[in-house]
Amino acid sequence: MTGSDQTALNEDRSSLRLLAVHAHPDDESSKGSATVAKYTAAGHRVMVVSCTGGERGDILNPKLADNPEVKRDMAEFRRHEMAKAAQILGIEHTWLGFVDSGLPEGDPRPPLPTGSFGLEPLQVTVPALLRVIREFRPHVMTTYDENGGYPHPDHIMTHVVSVAAFQAAGDPTAYPQTGPAWQPLKLYYDRGFSREKMLAMHEALLERDGESPFGDWMKRWEGTPPPRITTRVNVGDYFGVREQALLAHATQIDPDGSFFALSPAEQAKIWPTEEWELAASYLPVPAEEDDLFAGIDPATADALASKGSLDLVVDDIRETTLPENLRVG
Ligand SMILES: [Zn+2]
Repeated sequence: MTGSDQTALNEDRSSLRLLAVHAHPDDESSKGSATVAKYTAAGHRVMVVSCTGGERGDILNPKLADNPEVKRDMAEFRRHEMAKAAQILGIEHTWLGFVDSGLPEGDPRPPLPTGSFGLEPLQVTVPALLRVIREFRPHVMTTYDENGGYPHPDHIMTHVVSVAAFQAAGDPTAYPQTGPAWQPLKLYYDRGFSREKMLAMHEALLERDGESPFGDWMKRWEGTPPPRITTRVNVGDYFGVREQALLAHATQIDPDGSFFALSPAEQAKIWPTEEWELAASYLPVPAEEDDLFAGIDPATADALASKGSLDLVVDDIRETTLPENLRVG
C-alpha cells in the first residue's frame, strides 16, 4: 500500500463538518445536542464554539451551592464541566474567550458590566469567530435566532456575531488575516424549545402523574405564535446522550429538576425530533427537511465552499432589534 492510499483510507470521504455557535458552556448541551450527538456518532465532525466562559452564571444545582471549589473559581469549574460534556457528545470544542455579560435584571435593566461580551465591538468578535470558521471549514453553521432564543444579552450577541461571520466568511477581502475565505453552505437557528413541545411534555406528565411542573409555563406561553420550523431531525435515540451531557454541567443543572421529569425513552416516544429553522442556504433544499446536511454532497462540498461568489438560494435572515444595553459597532 502506498502512502497516498493510506491517506485516502484515513480520510472519511462521507464526513461533513458542522459548527455550532453558543453563548455559554451548557448551551451546547441544552440546545440541539441530540442532533449533534447523532452527527458525531455517524462520523461527521462537530465543532462547538462557546463565545464566553459562563463566568457570571449562577449555581443552579442546590447540591453544589456551598461547594468551596465552585465558589473559589466558577470559570475553572465550568471549563471542566464543558470538557466532560464535549467528550460525551463526541464534539471538538473551542472558547472564543469573551466574558459572560450576566443576565441583567430590573426595570430599567442596568448597563452590562465593562468588558463583557455584549459590549465587545463587532470588529473584535467577528474576526475571532471567522478564525474558527476558516480553520475548521464547516459546511453548516448553527446559532440562535434574532431574539437570541431567549433574551440574554450574550445569546442575542451570539446571533449577531454568528450572522456577521457567516456573511463575511466567503469574502476573501473580509478580515484576510483570519485565513482563506470559506463559505459555510447553510445557516440554521435552533428551534428546539417550543410551546408545542412543552405542551406535549406537560400533557404526558399530567397523564402519568396527574400533575406537571410545566403548568405555569403553559399559561405564560398561551397565544404565542408557533415558531418557523423548516427542519425536524429524528434524534430520539440520542436523548440519553443529551441527558448525560446536560448533567455534566453540574453547576448549571438541578438533577432533580423538572427537565428530568421524563426519561429519555419517554421523551423519545412523545417528541422524537429536534427542530431547526433554515435561515440561509447557498444550495437548493427540500421543502420539508430532516437533516441539516440535506442537499450537501460530500464529494463536491469543499470545492463549493471555497469557490467564492456563491448566490444565496434561501435568505431568511431577519433584522435584529437590539435591546438598549447592547451596543454593536
Ligand atoms: Zn446561555
